[in-house]
Amino acid sequence: MTEIADIEKKDLLYKGKAKEMFTTNDPDIMWVHYMDQVTAFNGKKKVQMQGKGQTNCEISSLIFTDLAKHGIENHFIKQLDANNQLVKRVKIIPLETVVRNFASGSFEKRYGVEHLMAFEKPVTEFFYKSDELDDPFINDFDAEALNVATEDQMKRIRDIALKVNDRLKEIFSEMNVDLVDFKVEFGMTSDGQLILADEISPDSCRLIDRTTKKSLDKDVFRKGLGALVPVYKELLGRLEKVEDVQ
Ligand code: C5P
Repeated sequence: MTEIADIEKKDLLYKGKAKEMFTTNDPDIMWVHYMDQVTAFNGKKKVQMQGKGQTNCEISSLIFTDLAKHGIENHFIKQLDANNQLVKRVKIIPLETVVRNFASGSFEKRYGVEHLMAFEKPVTEFFYKSDELDDPFINDFDAEALNVATEDQMKRIRDIALKVNDRLKEIFSEMNVDLVDFKVEFGMTSDGQLILADEISPDSCRLIDRTTKKSLDKDVFRKGLGALVPVYKELLGRLEKVEDVQ
């Protein structure tokens, strides 16, 4: 592996809704740039927002570092500066894995249940990553039939996602925040390991302040509840105060 100090940014490989991924001079390392942009409803609502990239980059870096310390291997290598990270290159499995502790969002809509109904045990769901199809709901059998993931990979994804949920709940609890739900993605390294990838940030979690009951996540933007960046900064400030997340 190339020394981290010698890593150079090369070509733009992929531009997503909130991040750009660049190749580097090491084939197993990618350079991630967090953009000052926020989107919702599969990109239909899109706004430029100064400072948003930085807060997400810092939140995700802290969380991935903490998860690695708790035995959850992931793609994160290093935060380079405010908006940039180095990560291990993986082939992303085209699934969005969602874990829910309370009913909200698409679950609430699909089943017509009470907002924030608490689940006795976490609910894991999968969505097939496809902009054209609007990320449809998918189950293990469909995923296998479509060669998206094997039975064994699906089992490992579930296990890791639930471990992530356990640790995130602990972290957010120390911040006086309930973790309603979150989305994670997984990928395969060049040597065939399945690891956690992408980002964990208020873009991909639903978080509610236990005292004020206010959202501290992208729902603020989705629902037009006010300025987003101050909310993300408030969350980052609380995260930085959690003693063992450093
Ligand atoms: O919309 P839904 O209720 O299915 O979202 C569940 C969780 O997954 C939410 O925390 C949401 O922010 C996240 N999510 C995401 N990216 C998507 C869809 C959902 O991060 N494309």
